[in-house]
Amino acid sequence: MREESGDGGDERCLEGRSARRCPVSADEIYQAVTDRMVQALERGVVPWRTPWSLAGRPRSMSTGNPYRGVNTWLLALASREHGWQSPWFGTYGQIQERGGQVRKGEKSTLVTFWKTLEKQERDPGTGEVTTRAVPMLRKFRVFNADQADGLPSRFHPELGEERPIAGPRAVLDAYVSQPGAPGLSHDVQGQAYYNPVADEIHLPPISGHRSPEHYYATAYHEAAHSTGHASRLNRTGITSQDATFGSHEYGKEELVAQMTASMLCAETGIGTDEIFQNSAAYIGGWLQTIKGEPRMVISAAAAAQKATDTITEPSRQALPEPEPATRPAPDHEIEAA
Ligand SMILES: [Zn+2]
Repeated sequence: MREESGDGGDERCLEGRSARRCPVSADEIYQAVTDRMVQALERGVVPWRTPWSLAGRPRSMSTGNPYRGVNTWLLALASREHGWQSPWFGTYGQIQERGGQVRKGEKSTLVTFWKTLEKQERDPGTGEVTTRAVPMLRKFRVFNADQADGLPSRFHPELGEERPIAGPRAVLDAYVSQPGAPGLSHDVQGQAYYNPVADEIHLPPISGHRSPEHYYATAYHEAAHSTGHASRLNRTGITSQDATFGSHEYGKEELVAQMTASMLCAETGIGTDEIFQNSAAYIGGWLQTIKGEPRMVISAAAAAQKATDTITEPSRQALPEPEPATRPAPDHEIEAA
């Protein structure tokens, strides 16, 4: 079975055919991802708070790199549900190329990517032809290394082999001490918030939190908001006057901050199961929001990935070069981010 569907909803299209020969509209992909998130939320699992630290961050066999954006959550969610211990994922063919064979009956997991199409446009006035890059949302299907036999042992690393990029404090300190960084102040009686006008992160002191991990999770959340400042990623949820409480922009910005905090906790080795309490009211609220806005999850996850990159970049510069990718990313594997 080449294209077994793991998420329901699009078997009709994929049955017995290659996904590439059966283009699916962007709307259908947004909907398929949202349906997957809704399904998890309805079972009480918050996808963007699903830690991937047990198996390590999901990685692509094709590029050697970690997945980004919404793919991180889609794969972490599937790993948790199936108990996969390997962080490695590949297409049916990529697993075969590496000497593996997907076991009969195993179901694939949906991941998304952006394909860049070059569109030529002629100016009706001057006749001048310009080329414009148009990103198109596409999808493909991958299997975990644990769903295959015969793969080399490097695809089945020992648990705990994945090291955090740096300690929580190093990441936060490097972000707030680079030139042009947001201010950070600790207010003894204060609340945690980000003030976009003054470009300042305010936090209760570390002693005012239940644990250092709680402090860093809160700090990451507010730091995430600060990446939306006009001088950084210029996100409308921070810069627009319309982003008032209860608005679409406000809801999306909040999801971006929560996803970013969660990504940073996982990257710096903070276990989040105890920190994030997923109450029924919390889950119900997000269920309603994302059901009404099928594009929100993918676009918030992409924004959260950029926010995470912005916050971790200063501390990464102090680290040795990562191992090179096994080979350059082909066009069809540029993950959505
Ligand atoms: Zn917030």
